[in-house]
Amino acid sequence: MPPVEIVGYCAATLTTLAFVPQVTKSWRSRSVRDLSFLTLATFSSGVFLWLVYGIVLREIPIIAANAVTLALNVVLVSLKLRHGSLPGPRSAIVVKPSPIHGRGVFATRPIEAGEIVIDGCRDVLSDEALKDLPEDERVFLSVIDGRNVLFKPPARFVNHSCDPNARGGDHHDVAIRRIEAGEEVTVDYVAEHVPGLNLRCNCRVPACRGWLIGSDRATDD
Ligand SMILES: [Zn+2]
Repeated sequence: MPPVEIVGYCAATLTTLAFVPQVTKSWRSRSVRDLSFLTLATFSSGVFLWLVYGIVLREIPIIAANAVTLALNVVLVSLKLRHGSLPGPRSAIVVKPSPIHGRGVFATRPIEAGEIVIDGCRDVLSDEALKDLPEDERVFLSVIDGRNVLFKPPARFVNHSCDPNARGGDHHDVAIRRIEAGEEVTVDYVAEHVPGLNLRCNCRVPACRGWLIGSDRATDD
């Protein structure tokens, strides 16, 4: 093999391998918010043209590298289309440590009452899909009206308040009053059927009920 071809194979292997961790991470977390759609689309188009170029020149390293990279990019683009953000709702929020509990969702700009705060909040899983759900995802699962409902990120990070500023739903979390920039977005966990409720409330509002007990627990005992 001529030395220049070895360089070609090395280049092909490295640029292709560089993508694997990102695809694995995005696939596992279903989180592609940090990926720019424009970058992905431009990059995929470029890789596609490289592939055409390689096929015309019959350069195996160029063909192989760009075919695999293109396939990996198609995975990222489809994840982005399914789970990623569209400009608007999500750009209004950020996930960061919360004084209420763990991580919380915070407004990065004022959000008006009735505005969508988070898009694509929950997935309804079939019994089949439920079997394949990793153990660490199960804490975000609730049975609502007989359906297996998985709270997705970032909606799963929304904390409870006894005086919430948002209301949840399968598709959107919506502001029920104006939320100021920097304010934590909160919902009422009892009303939202959040799983595993039996905990002391830490919301610190004057009207705090003190203890959160899920509707499923209330009927048990
Ligand atoms: Zn409370």
